Formats: sequence, C-alpha cells, structure tokens
Amino acid sequence: MSQRPLTIALSKGRILEETLPLLAQAGIELLEDPENSRKLIFETTRPDVRVIVIRATDVPPYVRYGAADVGVAGKDVLLEHGAEGIYEPLDLGIARCKLMVAALQDAPPVTGRIRVATKFVNVARRYFAGEGRQADVIKLYGAMELAPLMGLADRIVDIVDTGNTLRANGLEPTEEIADVSSRLIVNIASMKSRHAELSELIDHVAAAVSEA
Ligand code: AMP
Repeated sequence: MSQRPLTIALSKGRILEETLPLLAQAGIELLEDPENSRKLIFETTRPDVRVIVIRATDVPPYVRYGAADVGVAGKDVLLEHGAEGIYEPLDLGIARCKLMVAALQDAPPVTGRIRVATKFVNVARRYFAGEGRQADVIKLYGAMELAPLMGLADRIVDIVDTGNTLRANGLEPTEEIADVSSRLIVNIASMKSRHAELSELIDHVAAAVSEA
C-alpha cells in the first residue's frame, strides 16, 4: 500500500454511536471500542482505513485541510462554523434534532432589541438579521437554559431534540431555525485524488442509510 490509509474523522457520542453501524455495513469495523479508550486513532478491519475520534467542532477543519479525507459532522456545526471547501455528499439522517429559539414559558414578545444567549452565535446573528430583528448575541459555552432564568437574555438559540431539557427549566421553543442531522463530509482534493475509493465508500454508506 503506497498511500496513507483513508482517514475518517468522527466525534464521540451520538455521531459515533450512530455512524459505526453504517460503516460496519460498508465493511469497516473498529478493532477497539473508542468509547472506552483514550486513543485518538483507531485501526479498522480494513488495513487501508483508519478512524480518528475528535471534538465535533474539529471535524470540519480536519476534513477541509485534508488531515482527514472523510468526516461526519452535524448540520448545526456546519452552519455555525462554515462548510467552505468541504464537499457534503450525503445526509446520514442520524443524530436528528432542531436548532430553535426558546424563551421562558409564556414570555411576552420582545419589543426593540432582543438579547439572545447561545453557543451558536453565527446561526443566531444570521437568523435574527434575516427576520429583520435587532439582536445582541451573547456567546455562552454551556447551560444556555439558565440565561433567561437569570435575566441574562430574553431568548436562547439551542439544539432541541425531545424538548425535555427546555421543559425541565421552564422554557419552551418559540421558533424553528433549522432541521439538523449528521452529514458525511469529504475533502475536495481527496474526492479527486482518491475518487474510486471514496465513491465506493459513499455508495456503501448511502446504501446503509437507505436500508436503516
Ligand atoms: P432534549 O432535552 O431531548 O431536547 O435535548 C436537548 C439537549 O441534548 C441539547 O441541549 C443538546 O445539548 C443535546 N442534543 C440532543 N440531540 C442532539 C444532537 N443531535 N446533536 C447534538 N446535541 C444534541
């Protein structure tokens, strides 16, 4: 084998859990369970394929700059951090959720400038600008639900799946910004230089997705 192994970038949690069965159907199985390992690089049943496990927000830059040939990233991450220079050939239909605006239950409408707390500052800025509403967006790194309760913000923008986290904190979704699911992403140069391998992988994963 003259080339380096084909490198697939994944992140721990739902993406890893839901992607591994799709890769298995494409004949790629990890030799070790990454959820119980501190390793970052994993060999697979295919000697020409390896998997790296990194933070979700780091998957797009690894793929964009070709340090990984392929990755799986949530549409939320791609919308927030940008997907320039990345080919996005396949919606895996996994890790589904929504990006939503939420407020305290029965909160009155905001007149004038709205204060929004979120981890998704670019998504929030674009959304409110698109609605023609003036918004001050405050970047937080976690526990967004607390911000309206503490009077830090009128609204939050966050990922919502069942809505349980919002309800448990006295909040409710008010507006839907985007449907989110995980996407297979591919480095554009790899797509050309390793076309046969990559189109075969994409076809196998696509077949696994349509059977799921
Ligand atoms: P839920 O209580 O089911 O609405 O889930 C809300 C929380 O779970 C969010 O604040 C996220 O942190 C996390 N979450 C749920 N689904 C996803 C997903 N597909 N991707 C990333 N985070 C998620």
